[in-house]
Amino acid sequence: MSKLTATASCTAHSAVVERTGEVVAQAMLVQRVAWLTGLARDLTARLVAARWNPADLDALASGVGLDGRVLPSKGWMAVRRLGWGVTPVSGVYVCDRVLRCAQEQAARALRLALHRRTLVAAIVASWPADARKRSGAEWEALRRLLPDGVSAAEIRNRTRQIRAYCDERGALPADLTDLEEPPDIAAQIVLAAADKQLITLQRTGERGARLRVRLPLIASPASGWDWAWHVLPITLPPTVPPQAKLCTPTLRVSKGRVRVDLPFQTPIGFAPATGHVVACGFDWGVNMLLTGATGRLTGGRVICDGRPLTYDATGISAKLHRLRTEREHLAAKHEQLERLLAGLTPADPRYAKLSTAYEVLGVEHERVCARIRNLNKALAWSAARWAVDQAAAAGATVMYLEDLATLEARGRRGRANAWLSGQVRGQIVEAIRHLAAKHTIAVVTVPARGTSKYCPRCGDGTSVLQHCPAPDRLAERGWAWACCPACGLSCDRDWAAAERIVARGLLGQPATRTHRTTGERTILTVVEGNVARARRPRRPTRAARRARRTRTDLHPRPAARGRSKNRPTPKRPARTAKNEAKNDSMTSSRVPDRRTVPAPFLIGSGQRPAGHAPQPGRRLPSRTGHVRNSHHRTGFHHAKATPVLALAAHRGRPSQATPVRTA
Ligand SMILES: [Zn+2]
Repeated sequence: MSKLTATASCTAHSAVVERTGEVVAQAMLVQRVAWLTGLARDLTARLVAARWNPADLDALASGVGLDGRVLPSKGWMAVRRLGWGVTPVSGVYVCDRVLRCAQEQAARALRLALHRRTLVAAIVASWPADARKRSGAEWEALRRLLPDGVSAAEIRNRTRQIRAYCDERGALPADLTDLEEPPDIAAQIVLAAADKQLITLQRTGERGARLRVRLPLIASPASGWDWAWHVLPITLPPTVPPQAKLCTPTLRVSKGRVRVDLPFQTPIGFAPATGHVVACGFDWGVNMLLTGATGRLTGGRVICDGRPLTYDATGISAKLHRLRTEREHLAAKHEQLERLLAGLTPADPRYAKLSTAYEVLGVEHERVCARIRNLNKALAWSAARWAVDQAAAAGATVMYLEDLATLEARGRRGRANAWLSGQVRGQIVEAIRHLAAKHTIAVVTVPARGTSKYCPRCGDGTSVLQHCPAPDRLAERGWAWACCPACGLSCDRDWAAAERIVARGLLGQPATRTHRTTGERTILTVVEGNVARARRPRRPTRAARRARRTRTDLHPRPAARGRSKNRPTPKRPARTAKNEAKNDSMTSSRVPDRRTVPAPFLIGSGQRPAGHAPQPGRRLPSRTGHVRNSHHRTGFHHAKATPVLALAAHRGRPSQATPVRTA
């Protein structure tokens, strides 16, 4: 039984001083916490700045302390073993536990820098001939140097950073310390490094906890008397289950509130790497954000049910696109103002106006960036939640995803799906791993090569699919629809790819590898096999049953009424060039002039036009399994996804017992 760690962000609204019983209102509490985090930040920043050189980073990276022993995993202990002390400014008293917290935060910042340093060293060592684009061989050379699990977004961002450095200085950076200033330190206190002399935490019930922490009473405490124990009651959000184990939190001040970032651990089951029978595979779609298929391994072959699972985020992608355009527009204006300001002196009469505009634009740019970030994050979690719900409802024990590293390296789908940055995909994978762990579902990545190129029905990876714009335009070249000239398969391109992903995963199970440190699972070898598609038989509708029983026509013609109906209904006028010209001026010939399908009738949860209340007493999926509302609650107004239906055992024929009428 392993544990899953998540962080709940709580707010402390007030506190009580333990010694005197004095109630500390929010404003005062915010001030005292800000003094504490300010002290910690000052100590951390000085420690990091002092160690921002290649020799000290090498010492930390070597993992061996001054005494020749291996450095402990706890950051503050490692820093002390290396002899990196820090002292507060003279006249200020902080207890040893606050120093520990500062050292812990410094160690975390420096260890993150070590990761960036490895990346920078690998990218510099394999610097491509053309700085704008890597060839396939250059990508492979880079991947060999990089540690596992580095996302494409990280590589891209670092490459841009190094390119900017090159353009400015005309040479590649020798080390990370050339490339970057010491990292900014957040004003927060990592209490995880402290012990019960600085903090205690106790759960007081299902929804509450009691945090005791020593806070300074003045900005520059001169002795231990200027510190006092404060008791902070905290309300836990409903996401923290009652059996969760609470860990030591991190304190910070945000928007005039004291925020308590409280990590908690919940026990989760072990998801094995192999031995799976039912699986869900998801493809990073061209048409949809995610397209999935459910597959079952039966006697060495994979059978999928005929139900594509789609998550359509076209509306959100349009919004993101608009926001990104706006961000670039603002950034360009901001840069232009910066250039103008550089050529002016503060005495110039235009200076004041321009500098005000410069500041306003800076704030606006930051707001748009935050909006994009939040939208990406919300979309990632919504999509991940939906995918994991689908897998759980289908009874799957494993989810197969495309490996993002191979996806990016091939440069595939770069243009068609440009709105979805690699970062969002990375966020979705992270979220899926987290949520799947709660359901004890394994998450395994499979190679992305050729998933949408070859036919899932013909197997063995030889029959190349033809891509066209739509099922009725098979002769044209396109990308949304797939058809196989060998077997006649015709289906959505992403669905075909999702079926191949399921097959690669289920058939390649024995080759599953688990990463030693991250625990991430991958299949690197490609095992192909054809995928059959089975449909569950559906119970005939009531009208069809009645028609069979009474031996009548299911679709009876209405009896002719009135005497005017005494000849066949005239056909529509034939499509001649003359008629076409007349019609084209009014309507398109592609649009039917009357609705052939009744307007959708929305009941129950999901998107609903304003004023349409759900009808009580109507079950969402009716007895025939027909779902009237085709939308799943995604949390977004404009994102539509296949509804999650729990898989029930097929009941076969309906019961033959008929109710007995009594007189
Ligand atoms: Zn085929």
